[in-house]
Amino acid sequence: MDDNKMMEPIKKRGLFYCPYACGDKRYPRTKWKTEKGAIKHINNCLMAPDRVAAREAIELKRAQDRAANDEIALSGAKYQVGDEVKFIQKYIINPIYKRRFNRMVKVRYEDEYGFRARKQIIKTIGIINGAVCYNGFIFQKDIRVCSFGEVEDEAIKLREEHLEWLKMCSDLR
Ligand SMILES: [Zn+2]
Repeated sequence: MDDNKMMEPIKKRGLFYCPYACGDKRYPRTKWKTEKGAIKHINNCLMAPDRVAAREAIELKRAQDRAANDEIALSGAKYQVGDEVKFIQKYIINPIYKRRFNRMVKVRYEDEYGFRARKQIIKTIGIINGAVCYNGFIFQKDIRVCSFGEVEDEAIKLREEHLEWLKMCSDLR
């Protein structure tokens, strides 16, 4: 474990360099005028093998935890492939930023959303950010078990509420 602590600075023309692949490759390598300074860096270098290994172990643990959580979430999915679901789809009508030539320009303060009632047959079940997601975009919270007419009414209501909210935001400015 202490092997890297024994690593010596690389000495070249009276200057000292870190033996690990640290720093931004686009710039000249960091150098030290004194051996003491270089050793101090080496002991704290983020690219020292034991530090790299520690980060990789944490990353692996995180990935395993995520996979385990996804597995649990997936087993809690309420619908199966082949089921038809009714849902509210929220989509952006007018985004805050719009592309003008090759740059993004801020054209409004808030995204303007539309809401529509839809139904779709489930073809895929996956996990996005820990939540069950059908067909790549339908989340559990968007699914309704009432009649399609009621989903349509809700979409209209959500749109009205959103317009009121946008107006309130603009009144506050
Ligand atoms: Zn270094």
